[in-house]
Amino acid sequence: MVQTKAYAAQSPTTDLAHWDFERREVGPNDVQINIAYCGVCHSDLHQIKNDWFPGIFPMVPGHEIVGTIIKVGADVKKFSEGDLAGVGCMVDSCRTCDNCKEGLEQYCEKGNIGTYNAKGKDGVPTYGGYSNNIVVHEDFALHISDKLSLSAVAPLLCAGITTYSPLKHWKVGKGHKLAVLGLGGLGHMAVKFGVAFGAEVTVLSTSASKEEAANALGAHHFVVTKDAAQVAAVKNSFDFILDTVSAEHDMNMYLSLLKTNGVHICV
Ligand SMILES: [Zn+2]
Ligand SMILES: [Zn+2]
Repeated sequence: MVQTKAYAAQSPTTDLAHWDFERREVGPNDVQINIAYCGVCHSDLHQIKNDWFPGIFPMVPGHEIVGTIIKVGADVKKFSEGDLAGVGCMVDSCRTCDNCKEGLEQYCEKGNIGTYNAKGKDGVPTYGGYSNNIVVHEDFALHISDKLSLSAVAPLLCAGITTYSPLKHWKVGKGHKLAVLGLGGLGHMAVKFGVAFGAEVTVLSTSASKEEAANALGAHHFVVTKDAAQVAAVKNSFDFILDTVSAEHDMNMYLSLLKTNGVHICV
């Protein structure tokens, strides 16, 4: 077994604290990653607090994991010891349904197996990246370039893909006017991707104080949504709105900002 040091919540009402546990031994198709960084995602808090469903405790959160491979199983093909690798939100799936066969394991018809707060096929709870190592099947580990800053890469494994994926799906790019609604963990990623893909990016925010941050991220325009005149000025103007606001909000006002056949994307 692989001795592991972690931060765990022992119940929905306790703070994270040191917890030692054992991960499974590295199997033939597994890699063991020495974790360098793990991002903090708001869903970590939701899961610790049982906001979505009754959790499995002790719970070790964390699904934005990057580090160095220190051991590979006998049949591992993709990785060698010393490679940089990342792990995102899931660590297994049924692998036999149509979605899995298409490489869309996140839509596994039987439900994918989460990086933590889930049970693996062996019935053992999964534990996430608030820990010093993880053992994972090579199919659910990703290569990471050594030209990138690992601490900056970690949030790409959840916040990054959550915004990258819909922008790619809708082919957002040159010639498009993209509005990013909300400038938090997801929104700031969406702005950077949108700008990188060549779109004209506007940040829509209730907080005027976020304009400086939006500009620093490369946004071309900023609209304070509490200011009726500013909102009126961008009516019928966007091809896409990427909506990153998690709190309940009325979408009617935002829909009126889209061009005809524009698309409002909720992430
Ligand atoms: Zn996340
Ligand atoms: Zn499946």
